[in-house]
Amino acid sequence: MTMDLKKYVATVPDYPEPGVMFRDISPLMSDGKAYRYATDQLVDYARSKNVDMIVGPEARGFIVGCPVAYELGIGFAPARKEGKLPRETVKATYDLEYGKSALYMHKDAVKPGQRVLVTDDLLATGGTIGATIKLVEDLGGIVVGTAFIIELKDLHGRDKINGYDIFSLMEF
Ligand code: AMP
Repeated sequence: MTMDLKKYVATVPDYPEPGVMFRDISPLMSDGKAYRYATDQLVDYARSKNVDMIVGPEARGFIVGCPVAYELGIGFAPARKEGKLPRETVKATYDLEYGKSALYMHKDAVKPGQRVLVTDDLLATGGTIGATIKLVEDLGGIVVGTAFIIELKDLHGRDKINGYDIFSLMEF
């Protein structure tokens, strides 16, 4: 059985600001069959890469990555915004349209040499995933792939993570 997952993405023009087409995956998440179908494909990709750890940025990277980790029986580590992690962290900054932001991971979240898959709901400019990759590599992990539900082709996020394998379930 194949499913057309694009039907489960709600497109909201001019959100959160004029000119942005927001691609909302919440209809996909709230449909059990669609969520499982999407997750199954991400699991197949993770298996093909021999992944032994998953890392995702706050917050939709958790929604995408955690069920994959569960299915494979491997660990998941979050990359979080400032002030959320209680122990010693590493930090990576990245550019937003206006200004900068930062993500953090616990220093012991990834072990040196672990084969890591980085997940998020959507690849736009690539800033978020680029920062997440940097954190994993600072900790000695090997990023063997990146996986998304959606890739926004026009924003050229691929160019920012040139050299990393990219898997996405759909493009806009
Ligand atoms: P970027 O760092 O530019 O690749 O942006 C990716 C992050 O921002 C992801 O975590 C997305 O959840 C969110 N995001 C960026 N653009 C959109 C969009 N058009 N629709 C939905 N989410 C978006």
